[in-house]
Amino acid sequence: MKVTRTIEDVRVALDPLRVGTIGLVPTMGSLHDGHRALLARAREENDTVVMSLFVNPSQFGSENDLIEYPRNERRDFEIAAEAGVDVVFAPSRGEMYPPGFQTSVEIEELGSILEGVHRHDHFRGVATVCLKLFTIVRPHKVYFGQKDAQQVAVIRCLIDDLNLEVELRVVSTVRDGDGLALSSRNVLLSPVERQLALTLPRALGTRDRDQALRLLEDAGITVDYVEIAPFDPPVLAAAIRVGPTRLIDNVPLKPEATR
Ligand code: AMP
Repeated sequence: MKVTRTIEDVRVALDPLRVGTIGLVPTMGSLHDGHRALLARAREENDTVVMSLFVNPSQFGSENDLIEYPRNERRDFEIAAEAGVDVVFAPSRGEMYPPGFQTSVEIEELGSILEGVHRHDHFRGVATVCLKLFTIVRPHKVYFGQKDAQQVAVIRCLIDDLNLEVELRVVSTVRDGDGLALSSRNVLLSPVERQLALTLPRALGTRDRDQALRLLEDAGITVDYVEIAPFDPPVLAAAIRVGPTRLIDNVPLKPEATR
């Protein structure tokens, strides 16, 4: 597995590999079994697998949230190598956003509902960094998790609206045995908070917006939203706060799309 840190280096590494298909899995690291599922799907479907590892500052609302985000690069490289990744692209902040950087992509409607209401500019950051990664890596296929259903909807819109020549592949949410969707942020939960957080998958499991809201509120949880979201497929989506940690989850209300 080759680790690259600059745009120049990842392009040079990929140049001779362009005869076959390239699959890109964008991540912010702190890898878990959810990421492993994306990497496994990419491995099955491509000649070359590229994983990007970049904690993207422009999608964080506050500098503090960005600083607190869990990081474990050495372990991430081990997991990536085990998963059969060929090339890791792990750029610095300055490599992605050099002085003078000022261009961004806005997904106007899809980016401003649900998560967009609570995390202003989040999807502008996501769409912009993903477009940069797609342009740098030039993959045939890109892999995203259904766990972040709105992100999938935003990326699908980005690809369609800007006629990007890349195929979107969506991988089902991976959960722990107790039902909690895997997330890099789960390590920030205390044992008591984790127990409380389990109310989220239970509430969404009702597949009923009002019942879900009641279950969460009865547990004393701060709810940012519980809504039926008009994505493909439609999902019952929620965001909650457990202590200082914000968690999101969703359940598809119809069979899942793979793109
Ligand atoms: P992140 O590192 O959190 O930005 O996530 C990188 C990719 O992994 C995104 O496409 C996420 O949707 C996906 N992902 C994160 N958690 C899960 C999960 N529990 N199951 C499936 N995919 C996931």
